[in-house]
Amino acid sequence: MTALVIASLNAMMSLFLSPSWYFVVVFFTVSFLVGYFLYNYMLQRFIYRKIKLIYKIIYQTKATKREAFFYQSILPQKSIEEVSTDVQEWAEQKKKEIELLNANEQFRREFLMNLAHELRTPIFTVQGYIDTLLDGAIDDPEVKNRFLTQASKAIDRLASLVADMGEISKLEAGEIKLNLELFVIQDLIQDVFQELGRKADEKTILLLLKKGTERALIVKADKMRIRQVLVNLVENAIKYSSERTLVTAGCYLMDENHVYVEISDDGPGMPEEHVGRVFERFYRVDRSRSSEVAGTGLGLAIVKHIIEAHGQTVNVRSKPGVGSSFGFTLAKGKE
Ligand code: ADP
Repeated sequence: MTALVIASLNAMMSLFLSPSWYFVVVFFTVSFLVGYFLYNYMLQRFIYRKIKLIYKIIYQTKATKREAFFYQSILPQKSIEEVSTDVQEWAEQKKKEIELLNANEQFRREFLMNLAHELRTPIFTVQGYIDTLLDGAIDDPEVKNRFLTQASKAIDRLASLVADMGEISKLEAGEIKLNLELFVIQDLIQDVFQELGRKADEKTILLLLKKGTERALIVKADKMRIRQVLVNLVENAIKYSSERTLVTAGCYLMDENHVYVEISDDGPGMPEEHVGRVFERFYRVDRSRSSEVAGTGLGLAIVKHIIEAHGQTVNVRSKPGVGSSFGFTLAKGKE
């Protein structure tokens, strides 16, 4: 178009030089062709080359010679709008990648900080007792015994922390194979109640199956792993509840393929902002309150992993002052 306009103007001006039509037509044609090729060349050189450069940066794949020829000569050239859309898409994708990297980095930092914090407490405790013993307390048999018992407890805590971490990393790496079998979920719950009976008795807490949910339900799952889940949930319910309260387990048939199991307590409950986060590694609702109660902050993360490895879901409902209910689904066993 530009070449056409310029050639027309030139042709009109050439009328002043010579009134011959032949001259005007030649003049028009020559200026049109020269103009056309010159503009085309300039556009190629200054715009498309720059665009090519942009594509070199935003696309990580390299075109073969044949592809390059195809894109350059056969496919219609992209308009500036299309190029701009491509660049915007690329920028959007990069932004997402950067956000994800930042989130991972933040997660890694928090994880290391939490890990250091969790390890520091028991290590310093042991160190403190040993130093005091070496400084002379070892000569007093009563003090010696008390300090060694405390140090041993701190070591137990360290050991369970390391065991939990090993467990989590195995679960995360997907290394654990599930050993699926059919069993009655209520029997397993009664088993776990019996195992934790002494802990519950210490706080006069009653462990009960919810009324109306005693009818045996058969599930298909890894029994040892589900036992681990139940122990974690019931232990938490006992740990965080006050004395003379109830911890109940309910089992419900959700639909023809799923069973829902729920462990409820009348404990302190959790404020809404924490409820969604308790399944994160090391997350503890109230650090000062939780630190009075032994725990690694990894129990619920393990629970979530195990249930998700079964392809099922876990959830929590909680209200401060009312209590908490942790529930999970399981595949219903078909006899
Ligand atoms: P922990 O080793 O601290 O018990 P968990 O992963 O098992 O770690 O639990 C994470 C946090 O969730 C606990 O520190 C506690 O603050 C909160 N929590 C878990 N279960 C209950 C419950 N039944 N009642 C109140 N708070 C709970």
